[in-house]
Amino acid sequence: MSKYIFVTGGVLSSLGKGITSASIATLLQHSGFKVSMVKIDPYINVDPGTMSPFEHGEVFVTEDGAETDLDIGNYERFLNKNLSKKNNFTTGQVYLSVIEKERRGDYLGKTVQIIPHITDEIKSRIKEVAKDVDIVVVELGGTVGDIEGLPFLEAVRQLKQEVGSSNAMFVHVTLIPYIKAAGELKTKPTQHSVQELRRIGITPHMIVARTEKPLPKSLKEKLADACDVDRDSVIEAVDAPTVYQVPLNFLNQDILKPIARKLDLGELHPDMSEWNYLVKKIISPQKEVKIAFVGKYLKLKESYKSLIEALIHAGAHLDMKVNIDWVDSEELEKMSEEEIAERFSEVSGILVPGGFGERGVEGKLKAIKYARENKIPYLGICLGMQLAVIEFVRNVCGIENANSQEFDPDTKEPVVYLIDEFIDASGEKQIRTHTSPLGGTMRLGGYECLVKEGTKLYDAYKTDKVIERHRHRYEVNGAYEDLLEKNGMIISGKSKEGLIEAVEIKNHPWFVGVQFHPEFSNKLRNPNKVIMAFVENAYKYRKC
Ligand code: GLN
Repeated sequence: MSKYIFVTGGVLSSLGKGITSASIATLLQHSGFKVSMVKIDPYINVDPGTMSPFEHGEVFVTEDGAETDLDIGNYERFLNKNLSKKNNFTTGQVYLSVIEKERRGDYLGKTVQIIPHITDEIKSRIKEVAKDVDIVVVELGGTVGDIEGLPFLEAVRQLKQEVGSSNAMFVHVTLIPYIKAAGELKTKPTQHSVQELRRIGITPHMIVARTEKPLPKSLKEKLADACDVDRDSVIEAVDAPTVYQVPLNFLNQDILKPIARKLDLGELHPDMSEWNYLVKKIISPQKEVKIAFVGKYLKLKESYKSLIEALIHAGAHLDMKVNIDWVDSEELEKMSEEEIAERFSEVSGILVPGGFGERGVEGKLKAIKYARENKIPYLGICLGMQLAVIEFVRNVCGIENANSQEFDPDTKEPVVYLIDEFIDASGEKQIRTHTSPLGGTMRLGGYECLVKEGTKLYDAYKTDKVIERHRHRYEVNGAYEDLLEKNGMIISGKSKEGLIEAVEIKNHPWFVGVQFHPEFSNKLRNPNKVIMAFVENAYKYRKC
């Protein structure tokens, strides 16, 4: 029988429920259990794929091609394993499947209602993930008390009844605010949110308290008594220098003891030595390198979550702190060549990440030109690769009006274009045109890339075949392949069908563009190879 840990949030959002959930799961995984995770998002969007990065942060992509909440990225990075579309679902998805079943007549004439039909759908989705593992940690998005969250809370309450009390546990993540004027930490908001949970029939077994200041023992005890949890079941979560420190902080407070007691898991002794080592390398590495990150969603850094984490992980494995110099691509647009040179004078590498739409593109092209001409290590991801090819065709091959159909659908030189037919990750043929709806029309998920021997990409991966994840509509146009190669651009990776997946340029220390998003397969214990090679080469060729 699988065990369930449900993680709810109280008081307010952004308390780090995802990191708390992933940390608990990681400790259990290191104790020898097979663990998986589920994130439930109470919004009505079917998936976050159509949401603006400003709205929701990064859209994460799983290997099986789902566009998910960015917490799934956290889970993968912590658990060191690939999750799937099953590990994240939204209110929209739940209702969509119930309504589809109703239309098919599956409910045999019954009135379709939130209880039991919606709650059954929620339970069956959670059980589907639980069936292959010993323990599943389920994070409920939102805050207790939100209208949207009610069906999910009711569903997990029922699930606890079904599986029995030694197989289900509730962890409530809340905030203990510090009131400066009074010099006091306050427990009242937590008490209220626990009461709210109880009102809907859920009694938490553990409180994880986010706090700026360490909680005195007396306060932990007061909280335990007021919330009716065991005294060893109030865990403090103070701000940590890195999120990867959180499982270690939890372990220091013996978090596994009450969990093992509740779920009947026996004595647990997780081996966190490798983890500990990596955390130390993140916090105090020997070396440093500075990378320019040329993006346009800089107001919300969460938009680049996986890539930022990938740079941190690469750094941990290289004993290096990767300092990010955030460069707003739109600001570069107005700059002269001298100003661009001045702007980049102190960086050792330039990174252009993925992106959509025309805004900021000319600025990114200037950054790429600078990296190419001044032999600064460059990594272009997705849009960053497409633009590297456009820059090359414009300024090296001399075709000034080279462009992407994304920015000029009628361009005479469509170096980056929309292929209208492709085979998707599940082997089905997809058709797309300029008028296709935006939801679900991208090349998404893991595709094989055949890596050419003797290239920088091969040096990085050390193998001729890798699976990396995609999220884009446009492709580099194969009709320009000869022109590119004649002028010194190497096609270092191709898909099985011959689509151009990676490029690099000759006579440059390290200039690589990849059509896929290497940051999505990256994990703390298994950092992405091409991102690591970029950081390593930036350090090697650093000028300052
Ligand atoms: N906008 C480009 C495309 O759709 C690149 C997408 C991306 O960078 N993820 O192909």
